[in-house]
Amino acid sequence: EAPAAMRAVLEAPGVKGQEVLRLPCDAANVKDAVTGLVRRIITTGDPPVTSAFNMLDLGKVAELFAAWRRGLKGVPPYYAVKCNSNPALLGALAALGSRFDCASPAEMDAVLALGVTADRIIYANPCKPESHIAYAASVGVGVATFDSVEELRKMKRFHPGCKLLLRLKVPNAGDAARWDLGLKYGALEEEVAPLLRAAQSAGLAVWGVAFHVGSEVSRVGVYDAAVQAARTAFDAAAALGMPPMHVLDIGGGFAAASFEDACAVINAALARHFGDMPDVEVIGEPGRYFAETPFALAARVFGKRARGEVREYWIDDGFYGTLCCVQHGYVPRPVPVAAACHSADQRGGETRHLSTVFGPTCDSLDLVVQGYPLPELGIGDWLVFHDVGAYTTELSCNFNGFSASEMKTYLAYWIRDTDLNKPLLWQH
Ligand code: PLP
Repeated sequence: EAPAAMRAVLEAPGVKGQEVLRLPCDAANVKDAVTGLVRRIITTGDPPVTSAFNMLDLGKVAELFAAWRRGLKGVPPYYAVKCNSNPALLGALAALGSRFDCASPAEMDAVLALGVTADRIIYANPCKPESHIAYAASVGVGVATFDSVEELRKMKRFHPGCKLLLRLKVPNAGDAARWDLGLKYGALEEEVAPLLRAAQSAGLAVWGVAFHVGSEVSRVGVYDAAVQAARTAFDAAAALGMPPMHVLDIGGGFAAASFEDACAVINAALARHFGDMPDVEVIGEPGRYFAETPFALAARVFGKRARGEVREYWIDDGFYGTLCCVQHGYVPRPVPVAAACHSADQRGGETRHLSTVFGPTCDSLDLVVQGYPLPELGIGDWLVFHDVGAYTTELSCNFNGFSASEMKTYLAYWIRDTDLNKPLLWQH
């Protein structure tokens, strides 16, 4: 029997009523378990698959949620829907107690449809079309970010009761993360006081401050400078005689692999810069952290060319589908899985060939890996790619008639036997 939190996930809207596959428990780790399940599916035909599919490990989502609670105590996560809006992922996160960061009415609708109430949504898009602001007001989403005077004018006109968070540009964040969001958003240091004054004279409530250090942070020390800049903004508001601010939004940027390091920096920075303000509510907007590692892709080899020792393969998902992450320099390593009909001899035993793997469209940009050592593959073999849930399916399109939007996502979960007896650490 699954632990209580896992049972809640299995009952969640978006999950309930769907088949949830149990990953093999004898695997050494979750990646092997996912690969093992893909192998079972493609060799037994149960469930029957003929083309690429994704797999979402709900147990991993639950584990990540528990780790968030442990690492950032008392910091509610607002999952950034833009990262991956798969309904089962959203439902699972909602069941675990997550709140949501939405950037558009469509994202709000996706979350509201799961029964999440509007007070658990933050409209974290600093520059919003007027009709979208009016929509947020109509559905009761009452917290939003801003970073310009023009945005304040729109908020005053279309959602005057909204509580605002001033989005700051993080100092020296340029190379701290794979994607620098500061190119586009965030008030400069010298803009903070004028923006606070403009909000004050418009009669708008500034509830706090938000920042985003950039996605997939590698230099986690950047959170310290960001928290310090936030404190400076809190002090600027106090100096202007504004009502005290309540909220510090530490944004996203987290990757599962460096999460503990980021938590250590953030917790120390909060103690250092906000230790004298215990009533400030700290919130986060993780996207990649929750979406990246729980998803795997299985893609089928449907084309092959041998050129001397080099092999070229075509698979039925690629750059315009789940693997669009390759355009940002993230190339997940393919794990080969042989179809049932291919014996090891047919595949050339242990010999590895430098291989190129193409996606299915006619665009030569649609290239997944080049010069990667793979065993001899045949038509009907499969490649499994792990950790492909962040900004992947969400960005995919149906270019060339290859319908990424119709790709099936199977749900699965894997919890090691020892974990069954260990209560996972969160409350609803
Ligand atoms: N919040 C905002 C405002 C964002 O723009 C993004 C990503 O672009 C996120 C949160 C999520 O970021 P990440 O996936 O790096 O955690």
